[in-house]
Amino acid sequence: MRLLQNWKYATFNPFSYCMNWKRIFVWLGLVGGLMAAVPSWGQTSAFTSMERNHLRVPTPGLFADSTHFSVRFDTLSVGNYCFPLPGAKVISPYGGRRRHSGVDLKTRANDTIRCAFEGVVRLSKPYAAYGNLVVVRHANGLESVYSHQSKNLVRSGQVVKAGDALGLTGRTGRATTEHLHFELRVNGEAFNPDLVFDLQQRSLRRIELVCRKEGQRVKVEARPAAPLPQFLPPRALPSPFIKPLFFELFKPIRIMDIEKAMTEGIVFKGSKKSAPKDENKVKTKAKKKTYITGLSGSGAAKMKAEIRRKRANRHKNS
Ligand SMILES: [Zn+2]
Repeated sequence: MRLLQNWKYATFNPFSYCMNWKRIFVWLGLVGGLMAAVPSWGQTSAFTSMERNHLRVPTPGLFADSTHFSVRFDTLSVGNYCFPLPGAKVISPYGGRRRHSGVDLKTRANDTIRCAFEGVVRLSKPYAAYGNLVVVRHANGLESVYSHQSKNLVRSGQVVKAGDALGLTGRTGRATTEHLHFELRVNGEAFNPDLVFDLQQRSLRRIELVCRKEGQRVKVEARPAAPLPQFLPPRALPSPFIKPLFFELFKPIRIMDIEKAMTEGIVFKGSKKSAPKDENKVKTKAKKKTYITGLSGSGAAKMKAEIRRKRANRHKNS
């Protein structure tokens, strides 16, 4: 009875109840547990490591001559680059606890997604949690990934320029809102797009991107761009012995050949319309894949063998 009387006068303060220092740990544990149990908590999209790794396709010949190469973004003129979703704001950054393989950019539904740099469309198709996906292999050696489109506007094998429309923003695949999931990759490995694009200012960073192969991984580092080497006129050089050495030291920056990027390693499924009906009767593994060169079936197998042979003999010939 006395207890009841006391209770009547006691004021219950929920704040002090929750903020008891012992209970703070209980609350933290509960929230942490919940966040661990629901991986998509507060996220716009999430990919499994299998899905992320399926896009991890090495670029043939990228590290054939050297263990490193650099891409200079300071020398790119306007028109040779484009922010992938003009006017967008970042709704989810790269990395973090869920190891986000890209950055989520948002404007509105069905907004035009633009190609970052010139290149060849390596993939344009729906794929698992990525939804409608476009992967572009660029002439500068990088790859960019655009995902969750409501509609893709390009096809595999198409040559694209910076600023070309690739698709419309949507929420296909595993996405909770209309946005663009944008990735930059080198040799199949994703890195922070914020190294190349200032995502707040939506501008290109005037840096030199150094990509270094270390074992199976590629280390990417953004450096302030060094001034371009000043060439001395060859006549001013003292001896014929030093001349070749000089040019070896100041070789122009290697830029991947676009033709090479098109013919090497890019495989996509041939469209059903173009395949003749009588050829479909015999289904071989080689037939299911068509090279960009247009060869299919045993021709593609021969082509593959030819490319493999060339690749193996590359160093012997040069
Ligand atoms: Zn994302």
